[in-house]
Amino acid sequence: MVAPVIVVGAGIAGLSCARVLSRAGLDVEVVNRGRKVGGRMASRRLDGRSADLGAAFFTVSDPRFAEVVDGWEASGLARPWTDTLTVLDAGAPARSTSGPMRWGTPGGIRSVVEDLAAGLEVAEGQVTVVSRTPGGTLTVDGRPAAAVVLAMPDPQARVLLGDGVQHEAARLDLPFDPVLALAAWWPERTWDSVAAPALFHGAFVNGDDDLAWIADDGRRRGDDAPVLVAHSTAAFALPHLFEPQAAAPAMVAAVRRVLEIPAEPTGYYLQRWSVARPARVRPEPFWLGEQNLGFCGDGWGPVSRVEGAFLSGLALGEALVARLG
Ligand SMILES: Cc1cc2nc3c(=O)[nH]c(=O)nc-3n(C[C@H](O)[C@H](O)[C@H](O)COP(=O)(O)OP(=O)(O)OC[C@H]3O[C@@H](n4cnc5c(N)ncnc54)[C@H](O)[C@@H]3O)c2cc1C
Repeated sequence: MVAPVIVVGAGIAGLSCARVLSRAGLDVEVVNRGRKVGGRMASRRLDGRSADLGAAFFTVSDPRFAEVVDGWEASGLARPWTDTLTVLDAGAPARSTSGPMRWGTPGGIRSVVEDLAAGLEVAEGQVTVVSRTPGGTLTVDGRPAAAVVLAMPDPQARVLLGDGVQHEAARLDLPFDPVLALAAWWPERTWDSVAAPALFHGAFVNGDDDLAWIADDGRRRGDDAPVLVAHSTAAFALPHLFEPQAAAPAMVAAVRRVLEIPAEPTGYYLQRWSVARPARVRPEPFWLGEQNLGFCGDGWGPVSRVEGAFLSGLALGEALVARLG
């Protein structure tokens, strides 16, 4: 019996890779830590609705990603959100900035990753070690594989490298910064004045010690709920990684300060991302060794975002198909 290709990680990169392999007729299995797919494209049910706590939105530039997003739009999973956001520079008046269309997801951003997983075999489980036997066979927790894809941030992939593949750790040297994400909700929206005369959709917060970004989750999802999701700076997150909940009151205060919100929120939820964003860009779109161990994800390729992760997985999948197919 031919061993399957094992893809570890069911974020958008792993699933994009697995789809290419599966469509080429290869036997592919995806293993993912946790019950839900999506990785950092994470949504959580809070106050009776889904809020997006990881990736805030995605943008589209490559035609291969555009084709997939067109499908999501046609089936109601994704919608153009806004091309105009607010910039809040410390000590300066708020201004608006135009850029690429940012896409939102009515059902939460995880829903589009779930769509990519349809038809694929995804097993729940935390992989602990990838090895190569003296005879040259790759194994995942002892199970033989024709090829192994690690589709996750470098720090998470590096710790999986066991006997026979440890020397590949040198290729996984990209540091990732942490982020704390705070979702907070109020009885009504009071923050539009910050962006007036436009509506407030989201803001890049520059030069602030605590916050880097705030999204109006109701507007990006399209249900108009008065819910904000703020992302901290890496410097704010770093000292709070062991006790993140202790940072929540300071983040609430920072959101209220920056958006001039008079009242405390009705409720809030804080999510820790110890490994959130690559600290720098690595232009190679993926890595594939001669022994069929490959790495992909948003740490690979020129754009460290949702689209970049999708394209990284796609490119590694195509390279594996060319080799094994
Ligand atoms: C706070 C935050 C805000 C962001 N904002 C944006 C944004 O606005 N726009 C944008 O385009 N991008 C944004 N991003 C980045 C975007 O989320 C990522 O680029 C993208 O989701 C990366 O996908 P991935 O598949 O490479 O990795 P991940 O989504 O991290 O997937 C990796 C998967 O591997 C699994 N895994 C890890 N270790 C193991 C193991 N040992 N065994 C089994 N499974 C394992 C994980 O559980 C996870 O499911 C943001 C990220 C964060 C955290």
